[in-house]
Amino acid sequence: MEKQIEELRSNAIAAIDKAAKSLNDLNDIRVKYLGKKGELTSILRGMGKLSAEDRPRIGQIVNKARQELEDLIAEKNEQLKQEELETRLINERIDVTLPGRTNPHGHIHPLTLTLLQIKEIFMRMGFSVEEGPEIEKDYYNFEALNLPKDHPARDMQDSFYITEDILMRSQTSPVQARTMEAHEPNSPIRMIAPGRVYRRDDYDATHSPMFTQVEGMVIDKGISLADLKGTLETFLKQTFGPKVKVRFRPSFFPFTEPSAEVDISCVMCKGKGCRVCKGTGWLEILGSGMIHPNVLKMSGYDPEQVSGFAFGMGVERIAMLVYGIDDLRLFYDNDLRFLKQF
Ligand SMILES: [Zn+2]
Repeated sequence: MEKQIEELRSNAIAAIDKAAKSLNDLNDIRVKYLGKKGELTSILRGMGKLSAEDRPRIGQIVNKARQELEDLIAEKNEQLKQEELETRLINERIDVTLPGRTNPHGHIHPLTLTLLQIKEIFMRMGFSVEEGPEIEKDYYNFEALNLPKDHPARDMQDSFYITEDILMRSQTSPVQARTMEAHEPNSPIRMIAPGRVYRRDDYDATHSPMFTQVEGMVIDKGISLADLKGTLETFLKQTFGPKVKVRFRPSFFPFTEPSAEVDISCVMCKGKGCRVCKGTGWLEILGSGMIHPNVLKMSGYDPEQVSGFAFGMGVERIAMLVYGIDDLRLFYDNDLRFLKQF
């Protein structure tokens, strides 16, 4: 009996000392020897079978072993708790020298950036910024701009019609007619109309069925072609730098007469000729002209009293030239690698 107890005792001590690597292991050992169904407990239970003279002596040995094991387990328990705490302190240590996590900041989209710059230049010259609906009446998109239903120039703009008389505007020009209507006839106007326009078109490096346009208009007494040239030259030199050359070429638009395409010297090759300007040294940048008397009349203005000029440009094209972007689709792809550069 004593031998059995002694063996059990030394096994338990060895187990506590070596085997217990964690608090869970230690608890398993405690249950194995000292638990309700534990080995030492079952010896205590079997004591009833012992003779009266053996019972106190064996009881003493068992209780002594039990006390010894409980003390060892308690001691080991403390030791393991301390070790676990130290491990946690090392693993969960906060390095206060690490840089903090910041919320990523958004960037202004290059088209918005370009548009803001265009608005700023014209606002400095006293222009107001007007807006109008993107879903527009045929009347404002075409008829009020000297383009009656059977006009061949309508074919220049393949449009998205919603009904016979309503379409996605193919230009921001309807805002010009709407602005004239909102004014007293013959009162002066100096405005730009920025916004999205829609045309049935391909989607490639230089075309998109949706793009951004800025059109502008000045009406007053005695407005001449010289005012048009001066205004547009000022705008283009502020956008592309003071050294840029500007030229006007005769052209045709139904709502202006005379009309002119405006070119700038190529910003890529400085006019020497390159792939971007197709070797010509010039880039077509906007359309312009003196407002057609019919357009003034349609909106209640008297072409005998006042005159004016109008112009229009694509914001994507200007942004591409300002930032050196060679594919229009990059503006709409939402690729952060592209957008983060601005
Ligand atoms: Zn060039």
